[in-house]
Amino acid sequence: MDRRDFFKTAAAVAVPLWPALSEVEGRSSPLAAQQPAAASRRLTDTLTVVDVGGTNVLCSSANSQGLVLIDSGAPKSGSQLTAALQAVRKDAKVQVVFNTHYHADQTGNNELVAATGAKIIAHEHTRQWMSTDYWVPAENRYQKARPKAAWPTDTFRVTGSLKSGAEQIDYGHLPLAHTDGDIYIFFREANVLAVGDVASPLRDPSLDYFTGAWIGGRVDAMDMLLTLSNEATRIIPAAGPTMTRAEFKAERDMMEEVRSRVWARTLKGDSPDEMVAGGVLNGLPRAWNDPRKFLYDAAQGMFAHHNKLDPSVI
Ligand SMILES: [Zn+2]
Repeated sequence: MDRRDFFKTAAAVAVPLWPALSEVEGRSSPLAAQQPAAASRRLTDTLTVVDVGGTNVLCSSANSQGLVLIDSGAPKSGSQLTAALQAVRKDAKVQVVFNTHYHADQTGNNELVAATGAKIIAHEHTRQWMSTDYWVPAENRYQKARPKAAWPTDTFRVTGSLKSGAEQIDYGHLPLAHTDGDIYIFFREANVLAVGDVASPLRDPSLDYFTGAWIGGRVDAMDMLLTLSNEATRIIPAAGPTMTRAEFKAERDMMEEVRSRVWARTLKGDSPDEMVAGGVLNGLPRAWNDPRKFLYDAAQGMFAHHNKLDPSVI
């Protein structure tokens, strides 16, 4: 569904009765405060994960013509990125950057790498969000468009691939999992799969419901990634440790349990506060830092997608 279709759908659904989150809290905490100091971990001879302002930047040096990066790091981390890349290869020349989605934590150094001639590949919806002023409901404000120098230069809608040295890189859309422009990037030879914020081993899973993201989309996207991968695949989330497929599957199963519980509560007419008070996230194999924010966003997404859920909803 494209953004226009989503807004058409959203306009047709009932307005939730609970109060808006509005100024209650920001959209996300400063990642740098939650993450360890800059670090890098080598996955193969040509693939390294570097921590750039709390964001995982996956760096491939398979091509002697230039590096391929997955995401460019958090805002104000340009010197950290440059130092990390110089440790991988002295000239630190970047040929291609993929943005897994439009958030600033993934696109913070786009201008820096684009200025050196790098191509920036992303889903078309990522370019749209970065090139347009938009409303941030949780902060009750407009976000200004990013400067044109930061925008993706090459966009796609479904899938794509490129060859980088001996590495085959396949990429594709993961509809409505975290935003409406999430993508995976799969390094076939290395069997390493970057999934952005569609996996959340450290932070609360988050849903940009105003883009159309919702728990059902997240579970579907995680199933797509399980189909792409095998037992030996290493999965790179937007932040936090490298995951095994088994760890990723455990997060997927937990999200499906959450989907089912939130849906049952939504059918009963519970507000997010009632869901928190009713312990809807209790007994899961992880704790939430901010259960109300997650449940508010999840419930908004359920309303937007109610027509896909159950024939008993009118
Ligand atoms: Zn994100």
